[in-house]
Amino acid sequence: DKDVLEVHDLHVTFRTEGGLVPAVDGIDFSVAPGKTLAIVGESGSGKSVSSAAVMGLLPSNAEMKGEVLLSGRELTGLSKDELRKVRGNDIALVFQDALSALNPYYTVGWQVAEAYRLHHDVSKKEAHKRAVRMLDLVGVPSADQRANSYPHEFSGGMRQRVVIAMALVNDPTVLIADEPTTALDVTVQAQIMRLLEDIQTEFGTALVLISHDLGVAAEVADDVLVMYAGRAAECGTVRDLFHRAAHPYSLGLLGATPRVDVPPKPRLTTIPGSPPSPGSITTGCPFQPRCAYTERVGERCITERPELTPRPGEGYHEAACHLGRRPQGVAL
Ligand code: SF4
Ligand code: MG
Repeated sequence: DKDVLEVHDLHVTFRTEGGLVPAVDGIDFSVAPGKTLAIVGESGSGKSVSSAAVMGLLPSNAEMKGEVLLSGRELTGLSKDELRKVRGNDIALVFQDALSALNPYYTVGWQVAEAYRLHHDVSKKEAHKRAVRMLDLVGVPSADQRANSYPHEFSGGMRQRVVIAMALVNDPTVLIADEPTTALDVTVQAQIMRLLEDIQTEFGTALVLISHDLGVAAEVADDVLVMYAGRAAECGTVRDLFHRAAHPYSLGLLGATPRVDVPPKPRLTTIPGSPPSPGSITTGCPFQPRCAYTERVGERCITERPELTPRPGEGYHEAACHLGRRPQGVAL
C-alpha cells in the first residue's frame, strides 16, 4: 500500500530565552494504511515533539522545517483554519492522559458527538447516534446508557476508550497515539492495545504509536523508528530491531524491556546515564557518553557524526552508528 503519512527531513527548534534549542534534528518516517509505525525513545528524544509537529500542534515558540504529506497533500503550508479541518478529521491524536482530554462538565456522549459535528453537518440527534455507535465499538458496555455519564464516572481504562472513540469518530486516515496506555495498569494496557489493533484491522487506519517502551511497540508495530536526542538512531521492521539490532542504543532499550517470551539476559537492565539535549552535541555521536561499544570504534565516535546507513535486514533497515558489525554480546 502507498504511504498515507510521509514525513521528510523534519526539524523542530524552540526559541527560548537561552537561545535556539533544537528538539528534532532531521527525521524521516512514513506509514501505510492498516500499518503501525512505532516511534520509540526516552523522554526528550523528540518523539512527542515530532507527533505534535505532524498534527500542527506545536507551541508558538517552535519553528518547524521539512515536509509532512497526508495522502499526498502537503500540510506544512496550510493556514490555521485549513489545518483545523484536517486535524481530528483526517488525522487524529490520542494522548496519554485521558482525563485532561475530556471535559469534566459534559457527558461523554455529548463530547464524542461534538467531535463529530465539528467536521460533519449533521443534527445533534444524528451525531448522538454516531457517538453511541462509536462508544459501543470501543467496548464501552451499555453504550446507549453510558453515553449520558460524565468522565469521572468511568475508570481510567474506560476513559481512554472514550478518548479513542472521540479520535475515531471522524474515521481518520491516520491515528497518532502518544503513550496511550502509560497511565493505565498492565491488564488494561493490553486491552487498549488490542482495541487499537482491532480498530486498525477493521478500518485500515494507519497508526503511529509513540512509546518509550520497545516491548509495547513490538506487540503491535510493523516498523520501528528509534529516536535519540532528536535524531533517528535506527529504523527497520520489528523483526530487524529484535533480531538484528545494529545500534547500541536499540540494544540497550531491548535489554531494558522485560519480556515474557524471551529469557532474561545477564546484561543491561537499564542504560546508565541520560540523553543529552538535542543540539548540545554538535560533533560526534550523541549516544557516545553512554555507549558501551565506543572503545571499539575510538575517536571517530567523538569527532564524526554517524549518519543513517543501510544494514542487512528484511525491510528498510538503517542505523546511525560507526560500528561496522552488529554489536555482539546480546543474545536475542
Ligand atoms: Fe556507540 Fe560510536 Fe555507535 Fe555512537 S557511533 S552508538 S558511540 S559505537
Ligand atoms: Mg511524550
